[in-house]
Amino acid sequence: MRIERAVVASKNVDKVTEIESVLAELDLVGEIVRDVDWEDVLEDGDTLEANALLKARAVMSETGLAAIADDTGLEVDALDGAPGVHSARFSGPDATYESNVVALLDALRGVSDRRATFRTVVVLCEPDGRELVVEGALVGRIAEIARGTNGFGYDPIFEIDGVTVAQMKAEQKSAISHRAVAMRALADALHSR
Ligand code: IMP
Repeated sequence: MRIERAVVASKNVDKVTEIESVLAELDLVGEIVRDVDWEDVLEDGDTLEANALLKARAVMSETGLAAIADDTGLEVDALDGAPGVHSARFSGPDATYESNVVALLDALRGVSDRRATFRTVVVLCEPDGRELVVEGALVGRIAEIARGTNGFGYDPIFEIDGVTVAQMKAEQKSAISHRAVAMRALADALHSR
C-alpha cells in the first residue's frame, strides 16, 4: 500500500532530506506535502518511541495529513546506553552538532570500549487513527577524532570499518543507516497490511 499524501514531521532539514530521499527510493508516498507548518512539539518522552509518537500525532492532528516522524538516539555501550533519548542535548540546553561531538569525545577520553549503536524509531500516524511504529539500528564505534564533512550530528565520530558516516556519500549512508533501515521496515509494514 502507498500513502497518498504525507508530511515529514520534522523541522530538521538534514533529517528531512534523508527521509525524503529514502521515501523516493521506496516510492512510498504519492505526494510529500511541504507547504504546511505546525507548532514545535515538546519532546519530553522517556523513549525514542514516545517522542516519535508525540511528533507524529501532533503534526497529524494539526495538519490533517498522514505524518511520518523519526526520533533518533546514539547509545554508547561504555556509557550504559547514554546519551540515548537525550542525544540532542548531550552537551546542554544550547547544544549544537559540534558541541555534542566534543562532549562525547571528552566523555570517552581514555576509554577503549567504543562500541555504539544509532537507533531510530519511525512512526506513521494517519488521519483515520492508524499508527505504525518501526525501528532501525546501525552498530559501529565512536572514533577517537572527528573525520568527514557529510551527514550531520554525530556522523563525524561514528565509524564502521574505519570509515566515519560523515566520510560516506549520502547514498552509502542511506544504504545502511538506522533511519533508512527503519523506513524500509515502514515500507514492509505498509505493504503487508
Ligand atoms: P533527534 O531525533 O532529532 O532528537 O536527534 C537526536 C540527536 O541525534 C541529535 O543531536 C541529532 O543531531 C543526532 N542525530 C540524529 N540522526 C542522526 C544521524 O543520522 N547521524 C548522526 N547524528 C544524528
